[in-house]
Amino acid sequence: MVFRKSFRGSLVRGSVTATTLGLGPLRALPLKLVILMLRLMNTPSGTFDAVPLEALFPDAGVADLDRIRRSADAIDGAQVSRKPQVWQWFPQHVTFPGRAKAGTPEVLLAEVSLYDEGGDWLEVSLDVEWTEEGLLSVWSAISVACWCEVDHNAHYIDPVERTVVGTTSLADAFETSADRFIQWLTGPRDPEFWRARASFPLGSRSGRLRCSSRSAGPLRDASPGMDERSWEAN
Ligand SMILES: [Zn+2]
Repeated sequence: MVFRKSFRGSLVRGSVTATTLGLGPLRALPLKLVILMLRLMNTPSGTFDAVPLEALFPDAGVADLDRIRRSADAIDGAQVSRKPQVWQWFPQHVTFPGRAKAGTPEVLLAEVSLYDEGGDWLEVSLDVEWTEEGLLSVWSAISVACWCEVDHNAHYIDPVERTVVGTTSLADAFETSADRFIQWLTGPRDPEFWRARASFPLGSRSGRLRCSSRSAGPLRDASPGMDERSWEAN
């Protein structure tokens, strides 16, 4: 178990609002809705057959891209909903954007909400992203709402990360994360199970009110494709 400092925490603490993000006209809307709108406006998304793989990963070979497509097919086949996975992609991150911006720049992202009720949530995600060294990396984790006394908002449990370097190809890295993603998709959907497993405080059924500006579900950075995980905390 690894805890990564989450940008979500600052959102929950109320230091970031639609107003501070320069979205004054939208300030009457819940921040989660604002961020969702921004993502829908700015971010291409669709099932994997719509993902422009060759354009996103110009350095990957045909065989590698075929392996990635097969992994994506396996993810579709593992969906409890029977609906194909929706992916988001970020053409502005085809080349390494540098370290100037906060957060982790994502190139391709899949997220599935496994539980979202009563302020508690469980989510699994997989993304291809840039490391701070400018290498591609495939990262996947299951994340769960935090019920600690000090509210961290989210905890990532058992993250898998493989960097594309040396003999590790993008397909190698993608397959590893996709396999784990599928295990999580088909595994327990009870947030308490995951908190117990990682020795985080249980709480969603203790009666303690969760003090949060967010009613349910993890918040996202308003910059499309900039994951809230902080490089500094890695
Ligand atoms: Zn916590």
